[in-house]
Amino acid sequence: MTTRTVLVTGGNRGIGFAIAEQFVAQGYQVAVTARSGEGPTGALTVRADVTDAASVDAAFTEVEAALGPVEVLVANAGITRDTLLMRMSDEDFTDVIDTNLTGSFRVVKRASKGMLKARFGRVVLISSVVGLYGSAGQVNYSASKSALVGLARSVTRELGARGITANVVAPGFIETDMTAELPEAQQAEYKRNIPAGRFATPEEVAKVVVWLAGDDAAYISGAVIPVDGGLGMGH
Ligand code: NDP
Repeated sequence: MTTRTVLVTGGNRGIGFAIAEQFVAQGYQVAVTARSGEGPTGALTVRADVTDAASVDAAFTEVEAALGPVEVLVANAGITRDTLLMRMSDEDFTDVIDTNLTGSFRVVKRASKGMLKARFGRVVLISSVVGLYGSAGQVNYSASKSALVGLARSVTRELGARGITANVVAPGFIETDMTAELPEAQQAEYKRNIPAGRFATPEEVAKVVVWLAGDDAAYISGAVIPVDGGLGMGH
């Protein structure tokens, strides 16, 4: 059990909600950001849009006042705007980058202030198997998610000596609203390609994130941890 303070972005549903739930279960002081809705019972919910630096700053200030400095940050908020390259507008591309990549940058930068002062920090960025595997119809999403690897590794090189780790978790297909949108035939096709033969539950991702934030993972940094049933092996 630990009483460290953790902030999860996009903690009102899906994987972020499950991550927050697992941290609560382990005794952490948990806050989530949400644009709407609420995080799980036992977590503080603050409003934030990760595309807006002022909104991110206000959310951190609120969390710090209530729970103290953020020691563990999980950058989970993300979106898709899937379409084929030839049809993808500049806006489809930049919106996804602004949320998934620049949004992660904004929260990591804001969190690093307190982490540097404390000489302790755990940063976990939620990427995707398609970041390194690639995916037709997801040029924007895949680019945003692979860039998180460079972000985590650069943070590791910059801040590693100050007790701060930064890692990437790369989920495969997880049962959330994001995958529920896929047509059934496409879901079946994906399952055929996953060695495990199934999608994962959000809890299966959440438990890996909580482990990465804990003392047992203190010497792991700049790593990409797949939680994908073997889909992305070798990537
Ligand atoms: P959901 O679509 O279920 O939830 C996305 C979350 O991100 C919501 O809480 C949403 O808030 C939040 N969010 C989106 N845009 C913003 C924004 N601008 N500011 C703040 N919050 C925002 O997604 P999942 O739970 O499935 O995915 C969570 C993460 O995991 C994402 O980064 C996704 O890319 C990644 N992932 C998911 C996989 C899957 O199979 N589901 C596989 C691999 C990676 P709101 O409710 O307000 O929209």
